[in-house]
Formats: sequence, structure tokens, C-alpha cells
Amino acid sequence: MEGLTSQVFSRNVRLLKSRASRYAVYGTLIALSAIVLGTLLVARYQYGELSLDSVMRAQQENAALWLLDIMPFVFAFWGQYVSSIMAYEAGAMVVDQTSDLRAQTTALEYETIHGTTHDALTDLPNRVLLRDRVVQALMIAQRENTRLALLLMDLNEFKEVNNTLGHYNGDRLLKQVATRLQGVVREPATVARLGGDEFAILLPKIAGPESATDVARKVLRALEAPFTLEGLTLGIQASIGITLFPEHGNDVDALQQRADVAMYIAKRDKSGVVVYSPKLDQHSPQRLTLMGELRHAISNNELVLHYQPKIDTQNARITEVEALVRWQHPSHGLMKPDDFIPLAERTGLIKPLTLWVLNEGLRQCALWERNGIKLGICVNLAAPALLDPELCDTVAGMLAAHEVAPERLILEITESTIMSDPARALQMLTRLAGIGVRLSIDDFGTGYSSLSYLSKLPVSEIKIDKSFVMDMITNDKDAMIVRTTIDLGHNLGLKVVAEGVESEEILARLKTLGCDAAQGYYIGYPLSETNFASWVKQTGWSTS
Ligand code: C2E
Ligand code: MG
Ligand code: MG
Repeated sequence: MEGLTSQVFSRNVRLLKSRASRYAVYGTLIALSAIVLGTLLVARYQYGELSLDSVMRAQQENAALWLLDIMPFVFAFWGQYVSSIMAYEAGAMVVDQTSDLRAQTTALEYETIHGTTHDALTDLPNRVLLRDRVVQALMIAQRENTRLALLLMDLNEFKEVNNTLGHYNGDRLLKQVATRLQGVVREPATVARLGGDEFAILLPKIAGPESATDVARKVLRALEAPFTLEGLTLGIQASIGITLFPEHGNDVDALQQRADVAMYIAKRDKSGVVVYSPKLDQHSPQRLTLMGELRHAISNNELVLHYQPKIDTQNARITEVEALVRWQHPSHGLMKPDDFIPLAERTGLIKPLTLWVLNEGLRQCALWERNGIKLGICVNLAAPALLDPELCDTVAGMLAAHEVAPERLILEITESTIMSDPARALQMLTRLAGIGVRLSIDDFGTGYSSLSYLSKLPVSEIKIDKSFVMDMITNDKDAMIVRTTIDLGHNLGLKVVAEGVESEEILARLKTLGCDAAQGYYIGYPLSETNFASWVKQTGWSTS
């Protein structure tokens, strides 16, 4: 910094001095030339000859020449004067520039420090600063024998907002959430954004779990009022997990990890707020450990497929099965996909997992065919798996390897998967349809996809979400949604499947409404390969 200032200073001074001296020299030269010329003219015309004597006389007697004689001194003085003024100006310029540079450096330093400790989107403290504050707060709490609470909050369905309304609006929503959080939580508490839709609140010197729960409930209440984005009114809910020092841990990692477990339970049970307790660990297999374990589960053959039949409503024939993955975990037992698929999606493990499911499903499909049971196989595709550029070639390769006709494979994609990147999804779906694979829109009715967009997709069926089907006998609104969706599907030239068919009555109603296919516990539960084989032998549904 010092070096830069002195460089600027000497450059300015040099520049100005050279300009000032140049003009002083010019002036002096002009003045000297004027003296010489004037003296010669006076000597020649006033004294009649050009001699040393006449030149001397001219200089002694002519008052105008005396005036000219002072000129070089005037110019020399003027040059000195101007250069000192300029040097002064240069000094002033340097001072200005220095203070300007200093101000810029301070701003940059502040920005750098602020940038490493604050979240760029919401300007809230980030993970790093939160950690620091928790460490400080823990030291104070230990010293003063007080408690502190850490709240972790995650927005429910934020992914849907991002996927449907775009990341720009997702970001706007996060900013609004941040503002509301700051409104609820005051100093000395810290509100931080940990990333994505995850926020944390540190409450130092808290009386007990009740006070922490109170704050959490206030936060949820603050989020209750609808958010406005692009003229749309959105209701956003959140799940909060709470841990306390000293009850649940005495370091940042323990508190954060356990708050994460509590938050996970709050989300799963849709209970809003959950205070950590050790017994939660049994229900929420520790997610962090799970991530590592899932990686091995794929290669260790711990994953298994269960098959759930799907029937043609008109002739009660089993046409296809849906392959539903489970994880035979060495200590947690048989785990449902909801407990590890979201995790796999977050960690990039979903691609190898999906390839495993595809391969295993096709192998089973080919095996059944050799045993005389001809069934289509439905496989669920999550967004990262669908958007994998190699998917289409891999699928084509697997179909060939297992000698399964492409139309026997049905890939199920949810609306939100498509909307996560509509252009690329359309491209991938078109390629898949191009090799003859059938495509189905799963959980239809739960996403926010636009109908005009859906009509452009090369899909062959929609699968009405079970939430509408399960209650359609008792709930008129659900019945109406099911009826309208069936008509809509048919008008778009698509086959319509209902999932969640739990009773004979639902199946009969669906048949009347013209729904093409049905899947659900009434027809058959998802069963392991062996159980499915024995079930098929004695089921009332036909297989041929
Ligand atoms: P999904 O694709 O909508 O699968 C249907 C889910 O509904 C299955 O749950 C099934 O067991 C359940 N179900 C079927 N019939 C009924 C019924 O009559 N009533 C009720 N209440 N539920 C019924 P599951 O096996 O727990 O799978 C949950 C979700 O996990 C699946 O929803 C699917 O989105 C995902 N999933 C499963 N396997 C895979 C997979 O291999 N890859 C990916 N990406 N996702 C998978
Ligand atoms: Mg499905
Ligand atoms: Mg479904």
C-alpha cells in the first residue's frame, strides 16, 4: 500500500515538474531571443551600424531593452512559481488518491471478511459464522452454567418451488423467509442460513426446552402468512429440530447432528417442531452414517426389489409390476425407500442405485418370461437419474443384455422431476421414447406442471397419485379429481393408471370411470421375488 502511494506521488510530481520546467525553459528562451533580436535591431537602426560598440550603447541607453532584459528573470520566476503550485496540486492529488485507495481497501477487506462469514443471498451469518458463535456461546454457557438451544429449520416442499417457479423465485422466497426469521428472533440470538433451504437459530441463555419450543412455534407462525411470488400466493411450511446444551451434547457437531435428526423426524411426521431425544435415533437411522453405508449397500447386495402388481381394470389381468426398492440394512432391518431415496438423491448415489434397480428388474422380468409369466416392469426414475446423459444408452444396453423388449419397460417419472429441468427432461424422454421404452408420469396431480407442457411430452400414461385415489369413496373432491384426471388423460390420448387402490369398492368405481389400470394393496402388496412367485400362483387375478 505504502509503495503504491509513493509510486503514484513521484509519478505525479515528475509529470507536473517536467511540464512546468518545459514551459519555463520555453519562456526563458523566447525572452533571450527577444533581447538579442531587440538589441540588434536598436543597434542597427538607432546607431546606424552592427558593432560591439553600438550593441553596448543600445543596451545602456534604450529603456525598452531594459524591460526586455528583465523578461528571462520573470519567466524563470514564473516557471518556479507554476511548478511549486503544480507540486502542491500533485501533493493534494496524491492525498486524495491515497485516501480513496484506503477507503477502497477497507471496503474490500470488509467485503472479504463479510463474504466468508455471511450468506450472499440473504446476508445472514453462514455456516462458518454460526459455528463460531455456537463455540463462543458454549464457552459462556459452560462458564456461567447456563443453557443454550440450537434450532435447525428446513422448508417443506422447497424443492417443488424451485423446480416449478425457477431458482430466481426460489431465491426470492428464501430472502423473504430470512426477513421473517429476523423479525422473530432478536439479539443476542443468531439466525443463520446453512445452505439451500436450511436455516439455523442459536438461542443463548435459554431457560429450557419449553422456551426453545416457544421460539420455534413463533417462527412457524411467522411463516404461516402466505408468500407472494410472481403474483402467486404460496403457503410454505417448515420443520424444526431442537437440541439443547447441556442435555443433548456439549460441542457444535453433536448439537448440530442431533438437531438434524430431530428436524428429520419433524419433517417425516409433519409435526412442525421436535426436540431431540436419544430415542429418536432408533427411528431415524443416523443419516450421516447412512450416507456412507448406502454406498456399500449397492455393491454389497443389500438392496432388494419388491414387486407390486398392476392390473388392467377391464379384464382383471396382471399386466405389469412396479419394482420398489428396499434396503436390507444389517442393523436397521428392511428400510423403505422414503428413508434413503431422498438421501441418495442428495448424495449422487441415486444414479448407481437406479442402474442397480433397472438391471435387477430387467433380470427378473426376463426370468419370469422364461417361466411363462409375461409381465412389464415399471421402474421409478429420480431427477438426477433421468438427467444422466448416459441413461438412454445404458438402458438400451441392459434391454439387449437381458433380451427384454423395450416396450416391456415402463419408466415412472414424477412431475417435479420433469419440471426440475424441463428442456433436458424433454430431450431425455424423447430419446428414451425413441428406443421404444414406455414412459409414465407418477404421482400425477401432486406437482405443479403445466398441462400444455405435459401434452408435449412423449409419455404414454399418467398415474394418479394415491392420495386422491385412497379416499375417493368418502371424499367427493378427491372423487372429482380422479374423474377429471381420467378424462384429461384420455383426451390427451394417454393411458390412465390409479395407484393406492385399497378396496374392491375403489376398483369398481375406477372401472366405471374408465380408468385403464390399477395398483394398490387391494390388488397386491409389494412382495419380494420369492413371495411374489408364490402369490402369483394362487392369486385371483389372471396372469395370462
Ligand atoms: P411410488 O412410485 O408412487 O410407489 C408407490 C408407493 O405406494 C409404494 O411405496 C407402494 O408400496 C405404495 N403403495 C402401493 N399401493 C398402495 C396402497 O394401496 N395404499 C398405500 N397407502 N400405499 C400404497 P414405497 O414402496 O414405500 O415407495 C415409495 C416411493 O419411493 C415410491 O413411490 C417411489 O417414488 C420411491 N421409490 C421406490 N423405489 C424406487 C426406486 O427404485 N427408485 C426411485 N428413484 N424411487 C423409488
Ligand atoms: Mg412409482
Ligand atoms: Mg406414485
